[in-house]
Amino acid sequence: MAKSLNILQKFPHVILAVLGACTGVVICLIDKFVPTPLHLYFFLILSGILVANGLLLGSIIQKLFFNVYRDTLTGLGNKGMFNYSLKMEMAQIQDEDLCLAMLDIDNFKQINDTFGHIAGDVVLKKLAELLKQNTRGTDSVVRWGGEEFAIIMPCTNMQGAYTLLERIRTIIESYNFGPKINSKQITFSSGVVSYSNLSKVMQTDTLESNPLDVFVNLADKALYRAKVSKNTVVKWNEESCA
Ligand code: GH3
Ligand code: MG
Ligand code: MG
Repeated sequence: MAKSLNILQKFPHVILAVLGACTGVVICLIDKFVPTPLHLYFFLILSGILVANGLLLGSIIQKLFFNVYRDTLTGLGNKGMFNYSLKMEMAQIQDEDLCLAMLDIDNFKQINDTFGHIAGDVVLKKLAELLKQNTRGTDSVVRWGGEEFAIIMPCTNMQGAYTLLERIRTIIESYNFGPKINSKQITFSSGVVSYSNLSKVMQTDTLESNPLDVFVNLADKALYRAKVSKNTVVKWNEESCA
């Protein structure tokens, strides 16, 4: 079974081409050897097989697309999903603001070193779940990579995003992640930036940078400030996050 799956993964294009050629040959054989009154039945069976093949192939492609944009550990979107979602939100923006928050777990290496990587993974999964539970359905929560997450908040201004992040920060710091992990041992730092901030920077920035990259960079700079004290949320600000 594993071997046949391996062949399917390695040569799907060859297999599909051979199946297509076989179908053509079968049609020729039907035409040549099967009496004409029975042609209809044979062609109906063949059409049924082709429809089943198409459905199977379609669901495999759908699953592949889903997995390409998913982080396997947490089930959240991955960096590919982040780029896609942020690009879409930035393209659709009208009167409402849009906010982006980058989050990084504090002292996570110490958690791994103390409790082991499996316990670290459990913390990552639980944190992802808490982030998802405490954001709106329209927000996108993604695992940026490692112990870093990002939240895209459409139709949200800086004050709204900051309030949300502060609420999540207090939930996480008091959440019981397990019998051995003390309260306040799992905390995160976050940098928040708004699209209005980005627009101002893009007006004055003489360098021709990709707005999406600049947006992420601004959130990163605010995160960097937050890391000075840790367990903190910092709003991007021209003076303090330069
Ligand atoms: P800081 O407060 O400055 O962010 O410190 P930190 O320890 O969180 O940061 P550092 O970059 O030193 O360490 C990040 C750690 O995250 C190290 C790495 O092993 C761990 N990590 C990254 N991805 C995973 C993962 O998928 N599972 C587990 N268990 N650990 C991971
Ligand atoms: Mg990090
Ligand atoms: Mg960290």
